[in-house]
Amino acid sequence: MLYFQPIVTAKEGRIRGFEALLRWRHPARGFVSPADFIPLAEETGVIIPLGEWIIREACRIAATWPGEVSVAVNLSPIQFRHSDLPLLVRSALRESGLAATRLELEITESVFLEATPAIHAMLTTLREMRVRLSLDDFGTGYSSLSYLRRIAFDKIKIDQSFVRDLPHERSGAAIVRAIVDLATGLDMTITAEGVETEAQRLCLLHQGCHEFQGYLFSKPVPALEAGILAAKRDLP
Ligand code: C2E
Ligand code: CA
Ligand code: CA
Ligand code: CA
Repeated sequence: MLYFQPIVTAKEGRIRGFEALLRWRHPARGFVSPADFIPLAEETGVIIPLGEWIIREACRIAATWPGEVSVAVNLSPIQFRHSDLPLLVRSALRESGLAATRLELEITESVFLEATPAIHAMLTTLREMRVRLSLDDFGTGYSSLSYLRRIAFDKIKIDQSFVRDLPHERSGAAIVRAIVDLATGLDMTITAEGVETEAQRLCLLHQGCHEFQGYLFSKPVPALEAGILAAKRDLP
């Protein structure tokens, strides 16, 4: 099933959207973490039908929220290699009636390990459809800045590993500052992930982040609860 974690505006703390996060409730093992089962789904190829279900389900649920509230969906690099993503996204949007501008696709740098012309073409088509593209876990993967010149990302997500030891750790703070500078120069929206403390929030706000996501605001919640939060746009 999908859970949804609020993403809030940095200044006002109002809900801008939700990230869809996959959950597997195993009959014997309880909740299994996506960090454990996504790699398995990728190895076995199950990620293709599963990924299709995730996009359709996320769009279907988000279409019930007020018009300004967006949904972010995580994509696996395998989905770029073995499926026609623009075709799938177009059909999910049509079926659900969700506006393309309300769908964000979260992509990690690992997609660019094999930056084939086909992958580049898919990202360009998605952009032309007005779907938002977001660069996830920035700085943790096989960073190469060259793809930032070729693909216009709307958003960059600062990984929680850089946020964790703020505001006291110097290297984390320096990296956050560098990412904010880079993203500002490229007109990208900057979201900080894994914000857990008020001190982190203040530090990131001061550095110029636009959006926050983390336990300080809310954990991922079931769809029903997300719908209630979306209608209010405010967190309790
Ligand atoms: P991610 O995309 O970086 O997602 C953020 C993860 O951080 C989520 O873990 C979220 O629950 C967790 N998180 C949010 N706020 C905080 C916080 O304040 N502190 C801490 N410590 N953690 C926080 P989750 O849901 O376990 O997902 C783990 C990873 O699994 C995701 O990392 C993503 O890479 C992958 N994943 C989850 N859902 C999907 C999906 O639908 N499709 C694909 N392809 N991957 C998914
Ligand atoms: Ca993500
Ligand atoms: Ca992330
Ligand atoms: Ca992560």
